Amino acid sequence: MSSNDTASWISERIRPEEIEKYLDGDGSVDFIPDGAIDEMVCDAKIVSAAGDKARVRDIISKSMSIQTLSPDEAAVLLNVKDPELTDEMESAAGAIKKKVYDNRIVTFAPLYLSTVCVNNCRYCGMRAGNGSLTRGVLTLDELRAEIEVLAGQIGHKRLVVVYGEHPKSGIDYMLSTIEAIYKTEVPIRNRSRTASIRRVNVNAAPMTIEELSLLNKAGLGTYQVFQETYHKEAYAALHPSNTLKGNYRWRLYCMHRALEAGIDDVGIGALFGLYDWKFEVMGLLHHAIELEKRFGIGPHTVSFPRLEPAENTPFVNENQSKYLVSDADFRKAIAVIRLSIPYAGMILTARENAELRKALVPIGITQTDASSNIGLGAYNKAKGAEVQESTRQQFILGDMRSLDDVVREFAKMGYITSFCTAGYRCGRTGQCIMDLLRTGAEGKFCKLNAVITFREWLDDFATAETKAAGEAVIAKEIEELKEAVPNVYDTFIDYYNRTVGGERDLYF
Ligand code: SAM
Ligand code: SF4
Repeated sequence: MSSNDTASWISERIRPEEIEKYLDGDGSVDFIPDGAIDEMVCDAKIVSAAGDKARVRDIISKSMSIQTLSPDEAAVLLNVKDPELTDEMESAAGAIKKKVYDNRIVTFAPLYLSTVCVNNCRYCGMRAGNGSLTRGVLTLDELRAEIEVLAGQIGHKRLVVVYGEHPKSGIDYMLSTIEAIYKTEVPIRNRSRTASIRRVNVNAAPMTIEELSLLNKAGLGTYQVFQETYHKEAYAALHPSNTLKGNYRWRLYCMHRALEAGIDDVGIGALFGLYDWKFEVMGLLHHAIELEKRFGIGPHTVSFPRLEPAENTPFVNENQSKYLVSDADFRKAIAVIRLSIPYAGMILTARENAELRKALVPIGITQTDASSNIGLGAYNKAKGAEVQESTRQQFILGDMRSLDDVVREFAKMGYITSFCTAGYRCGRTGQCIMDLLRTGAEGKFCKLNAVITFREWLDDFATAETKAAGEAVIAKEIEELKEAVPNVYDTFIDYYNRTVGGERDLYF
């Protein structure tokens, strides 16, 4: 592909009319009021309300009833300093997660399909100007080799596929790779069965409504795009204006386009460390409120990655950001996100180290990755070994533990790892899932499916130690199900026994 071809591809990407149609009033303002947010997070009245126990407890109880908080309520929580109130916020965050999602944790693996990119985000190892990175785009054969490891050896059922923004990994490539992943059945190691990936989520640059409709037809699960920073000035300083990513509003409105294109599971996120963490939490909340208001559907997931080191990337390696987020502030941010957008799934990734992940999960996390390797073609190359090659990956991970290790840790903490992908395959998405989540009804379907899919995974992939830890959790779950779902309990036991007998993919 010549540089002229790439330049003309870039010049046709952004459709101004697919931004302008969502702008209110005279089209000059979007839904992120930077100045007002900056003022609100340190406003004297808000700061004083944060010390008022009764006020803070009122806000917490609103969250406990699974209602989205208003920006000023969230700003109060962001300013809480009292250790007693902080503890109450964290306990409430855990309780909300339990109410909406029960004790389930969903696991997935990131799969990088391309490391080419036309943008130049200062913090990213994949930026076009980084000559130290070895670039590539996976062929379909190489993709199959990755799935053999991910689905056949580790046992993943869900992927987040990641693409750099480049004509070589544009919409046609995305569609062919998603189709290939869904079609690929691979043998399970040491078993006479096959396995496949059952849900493909996509993390890729903003697209047009037309492209997003195609992605929807290809059967993607969740479409994720992180705004990186919601603060316009900080955004401009990090994303050169002569790049596609330099257009803040093209990115800000991509979930509007996705919802309009029929994708009703959307995932928002901010990259913590680019601007004040309190501002980013407020940005995420404003984004959720806007989507709820306009489409009746909030974000299915919220992500809050923190900056990690990356090959030849001074902005991160030399700590050039003034806004790096401490572990303590990160913890606070997570609790406030959980309380502010109580129905949303919350994703904590393997960017964070094992110890911190263990400590953060109880304050509201619903999804995490494991056995992760973000180098191009790296699953097949590493064959399960914990190796990172900085010159082949976007940034460096903090936790490379195997899925087996992570599942065992969760089981010992009392969590069940769910490999369920039934919700989206049965149409429990969008408005439907929002209602189920808010009322707690989704938890019941999911508990049934969690037990069945966990049983599958334990039998097909777990080590003996993990299997023992997992079976203790399953025994407890089955007891609870007897009470919780008496009308379908017999069918459940039938599905469960058939799964133990070797049948696969039975779900409610
Ligand atoms: N290129 C697409 C885009 O920018 O939308 C796909 C996303 S990129 C491959 C995945 C995410 O990684 C980015 O949205 C960003 O939040 C995050 N990221 C980039 N550089 C990072 C770094 N140094 N440390 C941690 N996360 C980083
Ligand atoms: Fe490209 Fe995404 Fe990295 Fe920016 S964050 S340089 S768009 S891969």
